[in-house]
Amino acid sequence: SAVRSAINALQHYKVLNTLTNDCFDKALETEQQISIEKKNNSPLYGRPILIKDNFCLRDTLTTCASKMLANFRAPYTSTIVQRLIDHGCIIVGKTNMDEFAMGVASWGAFGPVANPWSLTKTTMTNVENNKTVLHVAGGSSGGSAAAVAANFVSIALGSDTGGSIRNPAARCGCYGFKPSYGLLSRLGMVALVNSFDSPGFFARNIDDLIFATNAVAGPDDEDATLLSKPFENFKTSNELSKEKKKIIIGLPDDYDVNTLSSEYRLCWQDLVHRLTETGEYTFKRVQLPYTPYSNAAYTILSSCEIASNMARYDGIKYGYHTKNIDKNKDTYEDILKKTRDESLGERVRGRILAGNYYLLEENYDKYFVQSQRVRRGVMNDYKKVFEEDKIDCLLAPVVSNDPITLAEYEQADDIFSEDDIFTVGANLAGLPALSFPVRLSSKGFPIGLQLIGPFLKDQELLSTAYRIC
Ligand code: GLN
Repeated sequence: SAVRSAINALQHYKVLNTLTNDCFDKALETEQQISIEKKNNSPLYGRPILIKDNFCLRDTLTTCASKMLANFRAPYTSTIVQRLIDHGCIIVGKTNMDEFAMGVASWGAFGPVANPWSLTKTTMTNVENNKTVLHVAGGSSGGSAAAVAANFVSIALGSDTGGSIRNPAARCGCYGFKPSYGLLSRLGMVALVNSFDSPGFFARNIDDLIFATNAVAGPDDEDATLLSKPFENFKTSNELSKEKKKIIIGLPDDYDVNTLSSEYRLCWQDLVHRLTETGEYTFKRVQLPYTPYSNAAYTILSSCEIASNMARYDGIKYGYHTKNIDKNKDTYEDILKKTRDESLGERVRGRILAGNYYLLEENYDKYFVQSQRVRRGVMNDYKKVFEEDKIDCLLAPVVSNDPITLAEYEQADDIFSEDDIFTVGANLAGLPALSFPVRLSSKGFPIGLQLIGPFLKDQELLSTAYRIC
């Protein structure tokens, strides 16, 4: 059975650490049940899928890879997950990620996800003992990306706030699609940065991305930030018109940063040459002058929203609660401090602290308001190139170099990643973006690139992706 094969693969390659928790028994049971009932003709019917562990599934653990939520069972199911279930998807497990989706290594409280491309010896069983030979899978949705790339399942759900779908998709060598902000419901997805968060999928082909997105997109009364317009299904490969109009693709000079390795730059240029030769594409160099400031704006705005979102983790309503209490002496603040110190990682605490600092009355104008201006600048940059330069989409890198080993990553301290420069723009502006695998690097790691399209031109972006990939 499909579910049985997925479970076998997940168990066999446990070393990749793609799951935070599984629902194998329930999945097998569901498979049996639905094969008898066969309720609909969805292309997703009966397919095993994985969901990132920041989406709620009723009565199952939703940990966000944090000790804070290690024992938290969701009291309800997120809209998107419910729609997948209604289409006949069978959830096999929850995928590993960076703690609360902050980061680019998918390394939270339950250890790191390993990149499937560095798995040379199948005798490896434990990620902890092989950190010098295993590499980072990207993040924060690395468990979903690795599981799809390694063929454990064909579709997995993730979330993209600053690149968390596109980054691990590029690192692991699969497709990752972040739709326009407002198309997919965020109800039941643990909030990181509400104004940037977008759910989205991983798959090994674009049709699967579309099947999954079509199944879940569209209005939801429970999410007021969603577009109220009814969603029109995206077309799959056989529904697209065969007529080929010439596509104009923008190459943003400002994404050609000096941290981009020559090999990754060459891969980008080679694809441009290859596509130019077909005669179906015109390439235009374009300027997005706010790009150098986009990481700073993302850092500040995301930290501010994180600081207010994380206030709910006080260890009282739910989640981890310190046992180390001195009943005669400890105040509410003392208990709160101990609870958070013991259960939240350094990156999470760092961002909460930074966010509260930026939000101080005397700093608010200097940081928060100024960053909102930069955000507006980034949005206008995109608008200008799409409207004035008349380009259909942008082609850009996703990461700058091959992944480092888990051991190397452990030594590095990164509260924010430099590679975010390639991905955060689409989130600041709410644009659709899709990362796709191009080729392998000389060391044998997948190199991915991304297409970024105008707001709500998701269909056009997907159609272009079909032609290019
Ligand atoms: N690298 C980004 C960050 O650390 C990714 C966040 C995301 O998309 N969830 O904030």
